[in-house]
Amino acid sequence: MKTVLVINAGSSSLKYQLIDIETEAVLAKGLCERIGIDGKLTYQPTGGEKFQKEAPMPTHQQAIELVLAVLTDAKIGVIKDMADVAAVGHRVLHGGPNFTASALIDDKCIAAIEEVIPLGPLHNPANLMGIHACRAAMPDTPQVAVFDTAWGMSMAQKTFQYALPYEVYTEHFVRRYGFHGTSHMFVTGEAIKRLGREGDPDVKIITCHLGNGSSVSCSKGGKCVDTSMGLTPLEGLPMGTRCGSIDPAIVPFLMDKMHLSIKEMDTLMNKKSGMLGISGVSSDFRDLWAASKAGNDRATLALEMFAQGVKRYIGSYFAELNGADCIVFTAGVGENDWAMREMIMQDMDALGVDFDFEKNRTAPRGEECVLSKPESKIRVMVLPTNEELAIARDTAAIAL
Ligand code: ADP
Repeated sequence: MKTVLVINAGSSSLKYQLIDIETEAVLAKGLCERIGIDGKLTYQPTGGEKFQKEAPMPTHQQAIELVLAVLTDAKIGVIKDMADVAAVGHRVLHGGPNFTASALIDDKCIAAIEEVIPLGPLHNPANLMGIHACRAAMPDTPQVAVFDTAWGMSMAQKTFQYALPYEVYTEHFVRRYGFHGTSHMFVTGEAIKRLGREGDPDVKIITCHLGNGSSVSCSKGGKCVDTSMGLTPLEGLPMGTRCGSIDPAIVPFLMDKMHLSIKEMDTLMNKKSGMLGISGVSSDFRDLWAASKAGNDRATLALEMFAQGVKRYIGSYFAELNGADCIVFTAGVGENDWAMREMIMQDMDALGVDFDFEKNRTAPRGEECVLSKPESKIRVMVLPTNEELAIARDTAAIAL
């Protein structure tokens, strides 16, 4: 059996999935939590019983060793031994200007990921801990880094450039990178397959990744043309707790008026804004709908602002691409929240979208579904994202 182990390492957690690369089936998945504190391992073999145990894991290396032990366990494991893991794929948040695609991990690659830590100060060091842990535990297994920013690297300079002094770009690498790249890439590829347009350089897709963090992206011929997140994931749509795009002059204005430090201003924009900040209720869309139905006007306003934001991006990407063949909804909200999709798709007929509102209401949650009428010029679809599978595919393509 040939499998790829997909790793998403955070500072005190590590998510993993073991994927059979021939059948693309998930054999097992799970999570190490509270690394460096006390430690808890969760393991779920597909079709089997969930297994949890408290286990000390002072570092990421001990965490990965526990994962390998449970995957190869004689009773509850899903592979015979370590030789069945052909490669490891790591999710890495920020590749900066250094990476336009996924890359085989060697010392040079690690140095390049370290170099862009200032661009991803929370995530990149944690991702590197996962990489070092796996290299130590599996020194002979090839490892691949899959960057969330790689998708956005095909944008034209006029699109990724901010209108700040040019030196800010050349000296500090300040440009639009975009995030959720692995998800946008995956659903774009799947949409192109569903349209039967593989290899067509003119196929135009708009992808709406709507979850706790949200972004919209557009592509031509399967290559990113534009994306709503920027240097950091803060730009673009209002999100669960992030403000999205605002007048940048608000930043110094509020720092002055509210006597905020840089850190406090950053927290206000990243953790206290968005759906939570507007509604005062929650960042979770299910709570917002419940509050809105109970008459909470601020919850209604937050939902309306979110829908308006997505609509603006769809409209501007439609102009940028000179049309679109398909609009895709994905991630937690995009796949599950029919009422939000309905709000976004209201009054889109001028663009050539004939949305089937009835079908949208009854569409099964989290499943692939076409939501436009057969005669619609633009197809609208729900396509569940699968970032782990995208990472496994890239890892196999590069390492095997
Ligand atoms: P993340 O950005 O954390 O990966 P997800 O893509 O998992 O987020 O999306 C999580 C969000 O999806 C939740 O905050 C919730 O608002 C929303 N969500 C999940 N299920 C539903 C549902 N059935 N109805 C409405 N919203 C949902």
